[in-house]
Amino acid sequence: MSRPAKAQSHHPAGSRTHGAGVLREQRHDAYHPEEKPVSGTTCPDCAAQVQRGRWVWPADIASGAPSASDEESVPPLKRCPACARLHAQDPAGELILSGSYVSQHEAELRSLLAQEAHREASLHPLERVMSIDPVLGGGLKITTTGLHLPRMLAHVLERAHHGTLRTTYGPNQSLVRISWHREA
Ligand SMILES: [Zn+2]
Repeated sequence: MSRPAKAQSHHPAGSRTHGAGVLREQRHDAYHPEEKPVSGTTCPDCAAQVQRGRWVWPADIASGAPSASDEESVPPLKRCPACARLHAQDPAGELILSGSYVSQHEAELRSLLAQEAHREASLHPLERVMSIDPVLGGGLKITTTGLHLPRMLAHVLERAHHGTLRTTYGPNQSLVRISWHREA
């Protein structure tokens, strides 16, 4: 295969220095380091715990998994990636709702999103809504700690309220931005 790779075709012109890309990668790594935290590591903010390299809620550990702690030391405290993003106000994902339908059905849409977000967060500690804010000129902007949640929420919206979806990614795919649009 001698076809040239097209992965580099789109390069944002905004990066002024060579360091910009490196900085973003380091930021990304800061939330998901190569080295996985040890089992039993607990987030001081939300109490999520690491089990076999994944962050889970303590209730999910109690129900089923064997408590394989042959260490007598107290499990380390470390802020989980979701709380680290909340602390830094640095979302991993965005869902932007636009169109005249949004203002006409705002309460209903907010309620659906909140319900779905709650359900998702109860299953996956790292997938949480950070904020739901009105957008100037109409619409709503939802920011999330995880890359998957905007997609989940968008598909729930689409199922219940139709509309049009569009997905874009930030540099290094470190930010997913999904737009949902519907006119009344
Ligand atoms: Zn946490």
